[in-house]
Amino acid sequence: MAMNKTLARFKERFHNDIGIDLGTANTLVYVKGRGIVINEPSVVAVNQKTGKVVAFGGDARKMLGRTPAHITAIRPLVDGVVSNFEVTVEMLSYFIKKIERTNQKLLRPRVIVGVPYGITNVERRAVMDAARAAGAREVFVIEQPVSAALGIRLPIHEPVGNMVIDIGGGTTDIAVMSLSGIVRAKSLRIAGDTLNQNIIAYIKEEFKILLGERTAEDLKILVGSVHPGDEPREATVRGRDLITGLPREVVITGSDIKEAITPSINTFIEAVKEVIETTPPEIVSDIMHRGIVLVGGGSLIHGLPELLLRELKIPIHITDDALSEVVRGMGVVLEDLDLHKDMLIENEDELPPVI
Ligand code: ADP
Ligand code: MG
Repeated sequence: MAMNKTLARFKERFHNDIGIDLGTANTLVYVKGRGIVINEPSVVAVNQKTGKVVAFGGDARKMLGRTPAHITAIRPLVDGVVSNFEVTVEMLSYFIKKIERTNQKLLRPRVIVGVPYGITNVERRAVMDAARAAGAREVFVIEQPVSAALGIRLPIHEPVGNMVIDIGGGTTDIAVMSLSGIVRAKSLRIAGDTLNQNIIAYIKEEFKILLGERTAEDLKILVGSVHPGDEPREATVRGRDLITGLPREVVITGSDIKEAITPSINTFIEAVKEVIETTPPEIVSDIMHRGIVLVGGGSLIHGLPELLLRELKIPIHITDDALSEVVRGMGVVLEDLDLHKDMLIENEDELPPVI
């Protein structure tokens, strides 16, 4: 009886509330009962002369690398954690106001926000404080790999091993879950954006050309591949010649990109192997049978499922929408709290559930 009352109150508190996947690269917001309403790059453009924000999200991203000297495009999150508190708050406030403008008043919503696995209490508190400063009445935290698993509808409440790898912009979370908790996990600061940096460094070294970050990302997406059996692709890109200082065009092939990113990919594969090696045998056996699910934008690099299958001999699954599974998981929590409330961390200092 008392239990039911508590539950009713708990549910009441989540009326009209939202889930925010505050990613290093992209921020997505899920509104209970409505679904995903915001999906924008986590970028803010600031005028340094006035200190004022001139653009958020997609508009600000277009300015990356193209701004006049006094405007800087800032990514307020680095490696999955808040690096610029004020700008994070402004960005979150903007997204929340945008939802209110187009649809409904959120009236100081309760917020679930995702954090990478294994961040420190201080880092978690910063995320919670930022959400509060942006207007949230109450903030709950969910670990991103747990949220992703819920988003993909893995049976994580059952005594079965499930494995999810979330490769984002700044962090990669490798997690094994069972009975609603994380059994083994590892968070790496090697992810999609690292590959862009690898490409910039490689092209600089090999071609003496400096590429912008967006060009590097385009190359990664268009010609990049880690597929064991290569199929050659290439693209012409323009960068600044390091010797003459002038623009120069160069043809970059898939094997250039592969060479550039292979060290990072190898580190990633080693980390996955390490997590598997330290996972209890019964759970490994479940994973061998059920496979590993890849999510996050970074997992879309061409050929990754094939490479992982070859390296791990475990089936690899991809989902229809790798970039939104984490926020979808928050939707799953918001829509059925009875079942999922134990996955949330309410207290700043509380440790995540561990088996
Ligand atoms: P985060 O959760 O950290 O915000 P996302 O899951 O949104 O990150 O993924 C962003 C990363 O995914 C970026 O590094 C981006 O370059 C990369 N990415 C997006 N699409 C692709 C693609 N088709 N191929 C390779 N990488 C991609
Ligand atoms: Mg993410």
